[in-house]
Amino acid sequence: MTVAENYRRKLTVRKMDRNGYNPSILDTCDGEDYLTKDECLQTVRHEIYFGTANRKISKVNGLWVNVSPESHRLIHSNRQVDLRLKVECQMIFECEHSREEFRALIGKSYL
Ligand SMILES: [Zn+2]
Repeated sequence: MTVAENYRRKLTVRKMDRNGYNPSILDTCDGEDYLTKDECLQTVRHEIYFGTANRKISKVNGLWVNVSPESHRLIHSNRQVDLRLKVECQMIFECEHSREEFRALIGKSYL
């Protein structure tokens, strides 16, 4: 079994909600924009690694944040902001996991 297969096998569903999200590993909460830290009436969930396969991986592994609709548009239109978030999330992931595990999940490293 490869490292990737073994790691995926260990991914058990923890407290996944009805929409398929496990709790985020980042410091984010509903009603607060992760980028600006402003309170806002409505936040949306942004999957930090949002490619075809990675979107689901992001949900299951808690690699997502709450953002305002404006910040969400910014992330998806500004490569720098998107990359900053990807780097930050990988750093937090690697507090408890190896780089190899990150690569096995996401397919590449941003660090
Ligand atoms: Zn998004």
